[in-house]
Amino acid sequence: MNIILFGPPGCGKGTQAKRLVAERGWVQLSTGDMLRAAIASGSELGNRVKSIMDAGNLVSDEIVIELIEERLPEAEAAGGAIFDGFPRTVAQAEALDDALARRSTRVDAVIRLLVGDEELVSRMERRAAEEGRADDNIDAFKVRLKAYQDQTAPLLPYYAEQGKLREVEGMGSMDEVAARIAAALDEK
Ligand code: AMP
Repeated sequence: MNIILFGPPGCGKGTQAKRLVAERGWVQLSTGDMLRAAIASGSELGNRVKSIMDAGNLVSDEIVIELIEERLPEAEAAGGAIFDGFPRTVAQAEALDDALARRSTRVDAVIRLLVGDEELVSRMERRAAEEGRADDNIDAFKVRLKAYQDQTAPLLPYYAEQGKLREVEGMGSMDEVAARIAAALDEK
């Protein structure tokens, strides 16, 4: 099964993706994690994206599409992919559909996590203290939220028209949200 965890920065996509990996054995494909790993390794790609990411802007579609395509065989072998932070633009969504179709598979469900803006900011501040991510500060966060609203939210009608969108309340404890996601995935 291939699912997309969808929602604004700080809504809990990464946390819930890790639970699904543990519970279902699928592979988490987080473009944010892949890009942060590239920066940490000091690669040419990392050097190219660092200032864009630190400011909270989106990196180019070509870069993230290539990163995802490289990992599709691994997800297929595991029986499923959890896309976390990808796709973020309509062009990325179309490229994902094409790449999966070439492998005779598809996006099965898009789980949208609903979390209010105030809660997003307080989660970001908590994560800033715990993980020290360069883009977890209020200025970059505002840019990230705007990128979500302008470039990523337009994917909601794209997936709704395909009947794939399932909305899940993202407030509450990690366990409560996980249980709601499980119920949404088991819906026919
Ligand atoms: P995330 O960890 O998903 O919050 O992503 C952190 C940052 O990585 C984003 O603010 C972007 O700069 C970059 N990024 C991650 N995924 C994508 C994507 N699918 N498209 C463009 N930029 C991305």
